[in-house]
Amino acid sequence: MPATPSDLARLDRDHHLHPFTDPKVLQEDAPIVMAGGKDSTLWDEDGKLYLDALAGLWCVNVGYGRTELAEVAAAQMERLAYYNTFFKTTTAPTAALAAKLAELMPDGLDHVVFANSGSEALDTIVRFCRLFWELKGQPDKKVMIGREEGYHGSTLATISLGGTLAMQAQGGLPLAGFAHVDTAYQFRHGAPGESAEAFAERAAGWIEEKILELGADTVAGVVVEPVQGAGGVIIPPPGYLARVQEICRRHDVLFALDEVVSAFGRLGAWSAAERFGLAPDFMALAKGLSSGYQPISAVMIGSRVAETLIEKSGGLAHGFTYAGHPVAAAVALANLQIIERENLIGRVRDDLSDHFAAALSRLADQPMVGEVRSLGLIGAVELVQQRDPKILYDPEGLVGAVVRDQMQSRGVIVRAVRDALVIAPPLVVTHREIDRIADTLRLVLDDIL
Ligand code: PLP
Repeated sequence: MPATPSDLARLDRDHHLHPFTDPKVLQEDAPIVMAGGKDSTLWDEDGKLYLDALAGLWCVNVGYGRTELAEVAAAQMERLAYYNTFFKTTTAPTAALAAKLAELMPDGLDHVVFANSGSEALDTIVRFCRLFWELKGQPDKKVMIGREEGYHGSTLATISLGGTLAMQAQGGLPLAGFAHVDTAYQFRHGAPGESAEAFAERAAGWIEEKILELGADTVAGVVVEPVQGAGGVIIPPPGYLARVQEICRRHDVLFALDEVVSAFGRLGAWSAAERFGLAPDFMALAKGLSSGYQPISAVMIGSRVAETLIEKSGGLAHGFTYAGHPVAAAVALANLQIIERENLIGRVRDDLSDHFAAALSRLADQPMVGEVRSLGLIGAVELVQQRDPKILYDPEGLVGAVVRDQMQSRGVIVRAVRDALVIAPPLVVTHREIDRIADTLRLVLDDIL
Protein backbone atom coordinates (compact mmCIF):
# COMPACT_ATOMS: atom_id res chain seq x y z
CA MET A 1 0.00 0.00 0.00
CA PRO A 2 1.38 3.44 -0.88
CA ALA A 3 2.39 5.31 2.24
CA THR A 4 1.39 8.93 1.93
CA PRO A 5 -2.03 10.51 1.40
CA SER A 6 -0.75 12.29 -1.71
CA ASP A 7 0.43 8.96 -3.21
CA LEU A 8 -3.04 7.55 -2.64
CA ALA A 9 -4.70 10.59 -4.16
CA ARG A 10 -2.44 10.29 -7.24
CA LEU A 11 -3.23 6.59 -7.73
CA ASP A 12 -6.91 7.33 -7.36
CA ARG A 13 -6.76 10.21 -9.84
CA ASP A 14 -4.90 8.10 -12.40
CA HIS A 15 -7.07 4.99 -12.25
CA HIS A 16 -10.41 5.54 -10.58
CA LEU A 17 -13.50 7.01 -12.22
CA HIS A 18 -15.80 8.11 -9.40
CA PRO A 19 -19.60 7.90 -9.34
CA PHE A 20 -21.39 11.19 -9.99
CA THR A 21 -18.11 13.11 -10.31
CA ASP A 22 -16.61 14.93 -13.27
CA PRO A 23 -13.30 13.12 -13.84
CA LYS A 24 -11.73 16.39 -15.01
CA VAL A 25 -12.47 18.04 -11.65
CA LEU A 26 -10.54 15.31 -9.87
CA GLN A 27 -7.52 15.93 -12.07
CA GLU A 28 -7.11 19.29 -10.35
CA ASP A 29 -8.84 18.74 -7.05
CA ALA A 30 -7.41 15.69 -5.27
CA PRO A 31 -10.00 13.46 -3.58
CA ILE A 32 -10.10 13.36 0.20
CA VAL A 33 -8.84 9.96 1.32
CA MET A 34 -11.02 8.96 4.25
CA ALA A 35 -9.18 6.85 6.79
CA GLY A 36 -11.37 6.12 9.79
CA GLY A 37 -14.42 6.98 11.84
CA LYS A 38 -16.08 6.80 15.23
CA ASP A 39 -19.76 7.55 15.88
CA SER A 40 -20.54 10.62 13.69
CA THR A 41 -16.92 11.67 13.20
CA LEU A 42 -14.66 10.81 10.29
CA TRP A 43 -10.97 11.53 9.76
CA ASP A 44 -8.97 11.58 6.57
CA GLU A 45 -5.45 10.34 5.88
CA ASP A 46 -4.10 13.81 6.74
CA GLY A 47 -5.75 13.60 10.17
CA LYS A 48 -8.41 16.23 9.48
CA LEU A 49 -11.68 15.58 11.36
CA TYR A 50 -15.16 15.84 9.87
CA LEU A 51 -18.62 15.71 11.38
CA ASP A 52 -20.49 13.50 8.94
CA ALA A 53 -23.93 15.06 8.64
CA LEU A 54 -24.88 12.66 5.84
CA ALA A 55 -24.15 9.31 7.54
CA GLY A 56 -21.92 8.26 4.64
CA LEU A 57 -24.63 8.25 1.99
CA TRP A 58 -27.70 8.13 4.27
CA CYS A 59 -26.61 4.74 5.51
CA VAL A 60 -24.34 4.63 8.57
CA ASN A 61 -27.29 4.67 10.98
CA VAL A 62 -25.44 3.16 13.96
CA GLY A 63 -22.39 5.37 13.38
CA TYR A 64 -18.79 4.50 12.58
CA GLY A 65 -16.32 2.34 14.46
CA ARG A 66 -18.59 -0.46 15.73
CA THR A 67 -16.01 -3.10 16.64
CA GLU A 68 -18.85 -5.49 17.40
CA LEU A 69 -19.85 -5.55 13.73
CA ALA A 70 -16.26 -6.18 12.63
CA GLU A 71 -16.09 -9.11 15.05
CA VAL A 72 -19.35 -10.59 13.80
CA ALA A 73 -18.07 -10.33 10.21
CA ALA A 74 -14.74 -11.97 11.11
CA ALA A 75 -16.41 -14.79 13.01
CA GLN A 76 -18.83 -15.50 10.16
CA MET A 77 -15.98 -15.43 7.63
CA GLU A 78 -14.12 -18.02 9.65
CA ARG A 79 -17.21 -20.19 10.02
CA LEU A 80 -18.52 -19.91 6.46
CA ALA A 81 -17.39 -17.01 4.29
CA TYR A 82 -19.79 -17.75 1.48
CA TYR A 83 -22.38 -20.10 0.23
CA ASN A 84 -25.10 -19.41 -2.28
CA THR A 85 -28.82 -19.33 -1.61
CA PHE A 86 -29.72 -20.58 -5.06
CA PHE A 87 -31.58 -23.82 -5.55
CA LYS A 88 -32.13 -25.53 -2.22
CA THR A 89 -29.51 -24.13 0.14
CA THR A 90 -29.38 -21.33 2.67
CA THR A 91 -27.18 -20.30 5.59
CA ALA A 92 -28.02 -19.65 9.23
CA PRO A 93 -27.61 -15.84 9.13
CA THR A 94 -29.59 -15.59 5.89
CA ALA A 95 -32.55 -17.51 7.30
CA ALA A 96 -32.40 -15.61 10.59
CA LEU A 97 -32.28 -12.23 8.83
CA ALA A 98 -35.25 -13.11 6.60
CA ALA A 99 -37.30 -13.97 9.69
CA LYS A 100 -36.12 -10.87 11.55
CA LEU A 101 -37.15 -8.59 8.69
CA ALA A 102 -40.55 -10.25 8.51
CA GLU A 103 -40.91 -9.57 12.26
CA LEU A 104 -39.78 -5.93 12.08
CA MET A 105 -41.65 -4.81 8.99
CA PRO A 106 -45.43 -4.26 8.99
CA ASP A 107 -47.81 -7.22 8.99
CA GLY A 108 -48.35 -8.81 5.64
CA LEU A 109 -44.77 -8.20 4.45
CA ASP A 110 -43.52 -11.65 5.36
CA HIS A 111 -41.36 -12.73 2.43
CA VAL A 112 -37.94 -11.46 1.44
CA VAL A 113 -35.78 -11.49 -1.67
CA PHE A 114 -32.18 -10.53 -0.95
CA ALA A 115 -29.82 -8.52 -3.15
CA ASN A 116 -26.69 -6.44 -2.69
CA SER A 117 -27.66 -2.85 -3.37
CA GLY A 118 -30.63 -0.56 -3.42
CA SER A 119 -30.50 -0.52 -7.22
CA GLU A 120 -30.81 -4.29 -7.41
CA ALA A 121 -33.69 -4.26 -4.94
CA LEU A 122 -35.59 -1.70 -7.04
CA ASP A 123 -34.73 -3.52 -10.24
CA THR A 124 -36.19 -6.65 -8.67
CA ILE A 125 -39.38 -4.76 -7.79
CA VAL A 126 -39.80 -3.58 -11.39
CA ARG A 127 -39.39 -7.11 -12.62
CA PHE A 128 -41.66 -8.71 -10.02
CA CYS A 129 -44.43 -6.16 -10.55
CA ARG A 130 -44.52 -7.17 -14.19
CA LEU A 131 -44.16 -10.86 -13.36
CA PHE A 132 -47.09 -10.66 -10.94
CA TRP A 133 -49.40 -9.42 -13.67
CA GLU A 134 -48.08 -11.99 -16.14
CA LEU A 135 -48.89 -14.71 -13.63
CA LYS A 136 -52.34 -13.19 -13.17
CA GLY A 137 -52.97 -13.41 -16.92
CA GLN A 138 -52.67 -9.65 -17.50
CA PRO A 139 -49.33 -9.37 -19.33
CA ASP A 140 -50.22 -5.95 -20.74
CA LYS A 141 -49.90 -4.42 -17.28
CA LYS A 142 -46.26 -3.43 -17.71
CA VAL A 143 -45.79 0.30 -17.18
CA MET A 144 -44.08 1.43 -14.00
CA ILE A 145 -44.84 4.92 -12.73
CA GLY A 146 -42.13 6.88 -10.92
CA ARG A 147 -41.86 10.52 -9.95
CA GLU A 148 -39.89 13.60 -10.85
CA GLU A 149 -36.69 13.82 -8.76
CA GLY A 150 -37.14 10.19 -7.71
CA TYR A 151 -33.92 8.29 -7.17
CA HIS A 152 -34.05 4.52 -7.26
CA GLY A 153 -30.55 3.56 -8.36
CA SER A 154 -28.12 3.39 -11.23
CA THR A 155 -29.14 0.35 -13.26
CA LEU A 156 -30.91 0.79 -16.59
CA ALA A 157 -34.32 0.00 -15.09
CA THR A 158 -33.89 2.11 -11.98
CA ILE A 159 -32.63 5.14 -13.88
CA SER A 160 -35.69 4.75 -16.10
CA LEU A 161 -37.96 4.52 -13.07
CA GLY A 162 -36.28 7.47 -11.37
CA GLY A 163 -36.85 11.04 -12.34
CA THR A 164 -33.29 12.30 -12.43
CA LEU A 165 -33.02 13.82 -15.88
CA ALA A 166 -29.23 14.15 -15.77
CA MET A 167 -29.00 10.36 -15.41
CA GLN A 168 -31.51 9.71 -18.17
CA ALA A 169 -29.56 12.02 -20.48
CA GLN A 170 -26.65 9.56 -20.55
CA GLY A 171 -26.99 6.28 -22.41
CA GLY A 172 -30.27 6.69 -24.25
CA LEU A 173 -32.61 6.33 -21.29
CA PRO A 174 -35.32 5.99 -20.09
CA LEU A 175 -36.20 2.53 -21.35
CA ALA A 176 -39.71 1.97 -22.71
CA GLY A 177 -42.39 1.09 -20.18
CA PHE A 178 -41.77 3.83 -17.60
CA ALA A 179 -43.85 6.93 -16.95
CA HIS A 180 -43.36 9.84 -14.58
CA VAL A 181 -45.43 12.38 -12.71
CA ASP A 182 -44.55 15.51 -10.77
CA THR A 183 -43.75 14.92 -7.18
CA ALA A 184 -45.36 16.25 -4.00
CA TYR A 185 -42.85 19.08 -3.65
CA GLN A 186 -44.90 21.88 -2.23
CA PHE A 187 -42.02 24.34 -2.15
CA ARG A 188 -41.85 24.07 -5.93
CA HIS A 189 -45.36 23.06 -7.01
CA GLY A 190 -47.63 24.43 -4.28
CA ALA A 191 -50.11 27.16 -5.24
CA PRO A 192 -50.03 30.40 -3.20
CA GLY A 193 -52.01 29.95 0.02
CA GLU A 194 -52.67 26.25 -0.64
CA SER A 195 -52.81 24.13 2.51
CA ALA A 196 -50.51 21.13 2.81
CA GLU A 197 -53.57 18.85 2.90
CA ALA A 198 -55.03 20.34 -0.28
CA PHE A 199 -51.66 20.11 -1.99
CA ALA A 200 -51.33 16.45 -0.92
CA GLU A 201 -54.68 15.70 -2.53
CA ARG A 202 -53.76 17.53 -5.72
CA ALA A 203 -50.31 15.90 -5.97
CA ALA A 204 -51.71 12.40 -5.40
CA GLY A 205 -54.20 13.21 -8.15
CA TRP A 206 -51.33 13.48 -10.65
CA ILE A 207 -50.70 9.78 -10.15
CA GLU A 208 -54.35 8.95 -10.70
CA GLU A 209 -54.43 11.13 -13.83
CA LYS A 210 -51.40 9.28 -15.21
CA ILE A 211 -52.98 5.88 -14.52
CA LEU A 212 -56.15 6.99 -16.29
CA GLU A 213 -54.21 8.50 -19.19
CA LEU A 214 -52.24 5.27 -19.74
CA GLY A 215 -55.18 3.00 -18.91
CA ALA A 216 -55.06 1.01 -15.67
CA ASP A 217 -54.91 -2.18 -17.74
CA THR A 218 -51.40 -1.17 -18.88
CA VAL A 219 -49.98 -0.05 -15.52
CA ALA A 220 -48.11 -2.57 -13.35
CA GLY A 221 -47.02 -0.48 -10.40
CA VAL A 222 -46.25 2.84 -8.77
CA VAL A 223 -42.99 3.28 -6.85
CA VAL A 224 -42.43 6.12 -4.39
CA GLU A 225 -39.74 7.05 -1.92
CA PRO A 226 -41.69 8.05 1.22
CA VAL A 227 -39.22 10.90 1.70
CA GLN A 228 -37.30 11.66 -1.48
CA GLY A 229 -33.69 11.78 -0.35
CA ALA A 230 -31.39 12.31 -3.31
CA GLY A 231 -34.11 14.46 -4.89
CA GLY A 232 -33.51 17.05 -2.15
CA VAL A 233 -35.28 15.67 0.93
CA ILE A 234 -38.81 16.18 -0.30
CA ILE A 235 -41.15 15.37 2.58
CA PRO A 236 -44.63 14.06 1.80
CA PRO A 237 -47.43 16.45 2.76
CA PRO A 238 -49.93 14.99 5.28
CA GLY A 239 -52.12 12.29 3.77
CA TYR A 240 -50.25 12.09 0.45
CA LEU A 241 -48.81 8.58 0.80
CA ALA A 242 -52.06 7.08 2.08
CA ARG A 243 -53.91 8.70 -0.80
CA VAL A 244 -51.44 7.30 -3.36
CA GLN A 245 -51.86 3.85 -1.83
CA GLU A 246 -55.63 4.18 -2.03
CA ILE A 247 -55.44 5.27 -5.70
CA CYS A 248 -53.25 2.26 -6.51
CA ARG A 249 -55.66 -0.13 -4.78
CA ARG A 250 -58.68 1.35 -6.52
CA HIS A 251 -57.10 0.98 -9.96
CA ASP A 252 -55.57 -2.43 -9.21
CA VAL A 253 -52.01 -1.20 -9.57
CA LEU A 254 -49.24 -2.47 -7.27
CA PHE A 255 -47.89 -0.02 -4.72
CA ALA A 256 -44.18 -0.12 -3.87
CA LEU A 257 -42.25 1.90 -1.31
CA ASP A 258 -38.56 2.56 -1.87
CA GLU A 259 -37.49 2.60 1.77
CA VAL A 260 -33.77 2.45 1.02
CA VAL A 261 -33.25 5.68 2.98
CA SER A 262 -36.38 5.85 5.14
CA ALA A 263 -36.25 2.46 6.89
CA PHE A 264 -34.30 1.47 10.01
CA GLY A 265 -34.92 4.46 12.18
CA ARG A 266 -34.37 7.61 10.18
CA LEU A 267 -38.04 8.54 10.48
CA GLY A 268 -38.30 7.41 14.11
CA ALA A 269 -39.85 4.07 13.12
CA TRP A 270 -38.62 0.84 11.59
CA SER A 271 -40.09 1.97 8.29
CA ALA A 272 -42.08 4.76 6.71
CA ALA A 273 -44.81 2.18 6.15
CA GLU A 274 -45.04 1.78 9.93
CA ARG A 275 -44.88 5.52 10.56
CA PHE A 276 -47.59 6.35 8.03
CA GLY A 277 -49.70 3.19 8.49
CA LEU A 278 -49.18 1.93 4.93
CA ALA A 279 -49.45 -1.61 3.55
CA PRO A 280 -47.37 -1.66 0.37
CA ASP A 281 -47.10 -4.63 -1.99
CA PHE A 282 -43.31 -4.22 -2.06
CA MET A 283 -40.79 -2.47 0.08
CA ALA A 284 -37.12 -1.96 -0.83
CA LEU A 285 -34.59 -1.97 2.01
CA ALA A 286 -30.83 -1.35 1.90
CA LYS A 287 -28.46 1.21 3.48
CA GLY A 288 -29.54 1.19 7.18
CA LEU A 289 -30.13 -2.57 6.96
CA SER A 290 -26.42 -3.05 7.64
CA SER A 291 -25.62 0.62 8.39
CA GLY A 292 -23.30 0.36 5.39
CA TYR A 293 -20.99 -2.13 7.14
CA GLN A 294 -21.71 -4.64 4.36
CA PRO A 295 -23.42 -4.28 0.99
CA ILE A 296 -26.83 -5.91 1.35
CA SER A 297 -30.39 -5.10 0.35
CA ALA A 298 -33.77 -6.75 0.56
CA VAL A 299 -37.18 -6.61 -1.05
CA MET A 300 -40.08 -7.29 1.29
CA ILE A 301 -43.00 -8.80 -0.60
CA GLY A 302 -46.60 -8.42 0.49
CA SER A 303 -48.83 -11.46 0.89
CA ARG A 304 -50.92 -10.98 -2.24
CA VAL A 305 -47.83 -10.93 -4.49
CA ALA A 306 -45.92 -13.53 -2.48
CA GLU A 307 -48.79 -16.02 -2.71
CA THR A 308 -48.96 -15.60 -6.48
CA LEU A 309 -45.20 -15.96 -6.91
CA ILE A 310 -45.16 -19.07 -4.73
CA GLU A 311 -48.20 -20.70 -6.31
CA LYS A 312 -47.75 -19.84 -9.94
CA SER A 313 -44.21 -18.84 -10.91
CA GLY A 314 -42.84 -22.37 -11.17
CA GLY A 315 -39.53 -20.97 -9.89
CA LEU A 316 -38.16 -17.45 -9.91
CA ALA A 317 -35.66 -17.06 -12.73
CA HIS A 318 -33.94 -14.32 -10.78
CA GLY A 319 -31.09 -13.99 -8.30
CA PHE A 320 -27.64 -12.63 -7.53
CA THR A 321 -24.59 -14.68 -6.58
CA TYR A 322 -24.26 -12.82 -3.30
CA ALA A 323 -27.97 -12.63 -2.44
CA GLY A 324 -28.34 -13.38 1.26
CA HIS A 325 -24.54 -13.46 1.65
CA PRO A 326 -23.84 -15.02 5.08
CA VAL A 327 -21.34 -12.38 6.19
CA ALA A 328 -23.54 -9.48 5.09
CA ALA A 329 -26.59 -11.12 6.68
CA ALA A 330 -24.75 -11.73 9.97
CA VAL A 331 -23.62 -8.11 10.06
CA ALA A 332 -27.11 -6.86 9.22
CA LEU A 333 -28.59 -8.93 12.05
CA ALA A 334 -26.04 -7.58 14.51
CA ASN A 335 -26.71 -4.05 13.25
CA LEU A 336 -30.45 -4.51 13.87
CA GLN A 337 -29.64 -5.75 17.37
CA ILE A 338 -27.67 -2.56 18.03
CA ILE A 339 -30.60 -0.45 16.82
CA GLU A 340 -32.88 -2.37 19.21
CA ARG A 341 -30.50 -2.54 22.18
CA GLU A 342 -29.64 1.17 22.06
CA ASN A 343 -33.22 2.18 21.32
CA LEU A 344 -32.01 4.29 18.41
CA ILE A 345 -35.48 4.44 16.90
CA GLY A 346 -37.04 5.72 20.12
CA ARG A 347 -34.17 8.20 20.40
CA VAL A 348 -34.95 9.65 16.96
CA ARG A 349 -38.70 9.67 17.59
CA ASP A 350 -38.77 11.07 21.14
CA ASP A 351 -35.68 13.22 21.30
CA LEU A 352 -33.51 13.88 18.25
CA SER A 353 -36.21 14.75 15.75
CA ASP A 354 -37.43 17.74 17.78
CA HIS A 355 -33.92 18.96 18.50
CA PHE A 356 -33.00 18.58 14.81
CA ALA A 357 -36.12 20.43 13.63
CA ALA A 358 -35.50 23.24 16.13
CA ALA A 359 -31.82 23.59 15.14
CA LEU A 360 -32.68 23.80 11.44
CA SER A 361 -35.56 26.22 12.07
CA ARG A 362 -33.16 28.69 13.62
CA LEU A 363 -31.80 29.13 10.09
CA ALA A 364 -35.17 30.17 8.70
CA ASP A 365 -34.56 33.90 9.19
CA GLN A 366 -31.31 33.86 7.21
CA PRO A 367 -32.11 35.81 4.00
CA MET A 368 -30.77 33.09 1.68
CA VAL A 369 -33.00 30.42 3.23
CA GLY A 370 -36.22 29.78 1.32
CA GLU A 371 -37.42 26.77 3.28
CA VAL A 372 -36.33 24.55 6.15
CA ARG A 373 -37.91 21.10 6.33
CA SER A 374 -37.30 17.93 8.27
CA LEU A 375 -38.91 14.68 9.35
CA GLY A 376 -37.28 12.47 11.95
CA LEU A 377 -33.56 12.79 11.34
CA ILE A 378 -33.57 13.82 7.69
CA GLY A 379 -33.86 17.40 6.58
CA ALA A 380 -32.98 20.11 4.10
CA VAL A 381 -32.30 23.81 4.04
CA GLU A 382 -33.26 25.12 0.62
CA LEU A 383 -31.63 28.34 -0.57
CA VAL A 384 -33.25 31.00 -2.72
CA GLN A 385 -32.04 34.18 -4.31
CA GLN A 386 -35.12 36.00 -3.08
CA ARG A 387 -37.88 34.84 -0.78
CA ASP A 388 -40.92 36.89 -1.65
CA PRO A 389 -41.74 36.62 -4.43
CA LYS A 390 -39.64 33.49 -4.62
CA ILE A 391 -36.71 33.61 -7.03
CA LEU A 392 -34.54 30.53 -7.25
CA TYR A 393 -30.82 30.74 -7.91
CA ASP A 394 -29.60 30.19 -11.45
CA PRO A 395 -28.91 26.42 -11.54
CA GLU A 396 -25.57 27.12 -13.26
CA GLY A 397 -24.48 29.21 -10.27
CA LEU A 398 -24.05 26.13 -8.07
CA VAL A 399 -24.63 28.12 -4.89
CA GLY A 400 -25.53 24.94 -3.01
CA ALA A 401 -22.23 23.34 -4.05
CA VAL A 402 -20.29 26.39 -2.87
CA VAL A 403 -22.00 26.22 0.53
CA ARG A 404 -21.36 22.47 0.74
CA ASP A 405 -17.65 22.94 -0.01
CA GLN A 406 -17.31 25.72 2.55
CA MET A 407 -19.04 23.55 5.15
CA GLN A 408 -16.62 20.76 4.33
CA SER A 409 -13.59 23.00 4.74
CA ARG A 410 -15.00 23.87 8.18
CA GLY A 411 -15.21 20.16 8.94
CA VAL A 412 -18.91 19.41 8.39
CA ILE A 413 -19.99 17.12 5.55
CA VAL A 414 -23.39 17.81 3.99
CA ARG A 415 -24.62 17.30 0.47
CA ALA A 416 -26.04 19.80 -1.99
CA VAL A 417 -28.97 18.81 -4.19
CA ARG A 418 -29.50 21.76 -6.50
CA ASP A 419 -29.60 24.56 -3.89
CA ALA A 420 -30.89 22.41 -1.04
CA LEU A 421 -28.37 21.41 1.60
CA VAL A 422 -29.44 17.96 2.72
CA ILE A 423 -28.69 16.61 6.16
CA ALA A 424 -29.13 13.10 7.57
CA PRO A 425 -26.60 12.34 10.32
CA PRO A 426 -26.09 8.96 11.99
CA LEU A 427 -28.80 8.10 14.53
CA VAL A 428 -26.14 8.32 17.26
CA VAL A 429 -25.53 12.02 16.59
CA THR A 430 -25.52 14.19 19.73
CA HIS A 431 -27.48 17.37 20.40
CA ARG A 432 -24.23 19.28 20.38
CA GLU A 433 -23.29 17.87 16.96
CA ILE A 434 -26.70 18.77 15.57
CA ASP A 435 -26.19 22.33 16.81
CA ARG A 436 -22.77 22.42 15.22
CA ILE A 437 -24.20 21.39 11.83
CA ALA A 438 -26.76 24.22 11.98
CA ASP A 439 -24.29 26.77 13.39
CA THR A 440 -21.71 26.00 10.70
CA LEU A 441 -24.32 26.37 8.00
CA ARG A 442 -25.32 29.72 9.48
CA LEU A 443 -21.71 30.91 9.52
CA VAL A 444 -21.17 29.91 5.90
CA LEU A 445 -24.41 31.54 4.72
CA ASP A 446 -23.72 34.72 6.69
CA ASP A 447 -20.25 34.85 5.12
CA ILE A 448 -21.73 34.59 1.62
CA LEU A 449 -24.44 37.20 2.19
N1 PLP B 1 -33.27 4.11 -3.63
C1 PLP B 1 -33.01 5.20 -2.90
C2 PLP B 1 -34.14 5.93 -2.24
C3 PLP B 1 -31.70 5.64 -2.74
O1 PLP B 1 -31.45 6.75 -2.03
C4 PLP B 1 -30.66 4.90 -3.35
C5 PLP B 1 -29.27 5.33 -3.21
O2 PLP B 1 -28.96 6.39 -2.70
C6 PLP B 1 -30.99 3.78 -4.10
C7 PLP B 1 -32.30 3.40 -4.22
C8 PLP B 1 -29.93 2.99 -4.79
O3 PLP B 1 -29.16 2.29 -3.87
P1 PLP B 1 -27.70 1.77 -4.26
O4 PLP B 1 -26.84 2.98 -4.45
O5 PLP B 1 -27.31 0.93 -3.08
O6 PLP B 1 -27.84 0.97 -5.49
